[in-house]
Amino acid sequence: MDEHFFQCPYCWEQISMLIDTSQAQQNYIEDCEICCNPIQISLITRHQQIIDFQAESIGQ
Ligand SMILES: [Zn+2]
Repeated sequence: MDEHFFQCPYCWEQISMLIDTSQAQQNYIEDCEICCNPIQISLITRHQQIIDFQAESIGQ
């Protein structure tokens, strides 16, 4: 697991999430811990490292 910091697409606060780096490609929705809006997370890992990470608001 790897802690990743990014900005929430709704409230622009910096938040962190624990990422399971054992899976190469992931797509899921997780609520922002500050504003509770659902964030679409898309990420790619390679050799247990996050090489691509996107956090987008739902419906945009
Ligand atoms: Zn937020």
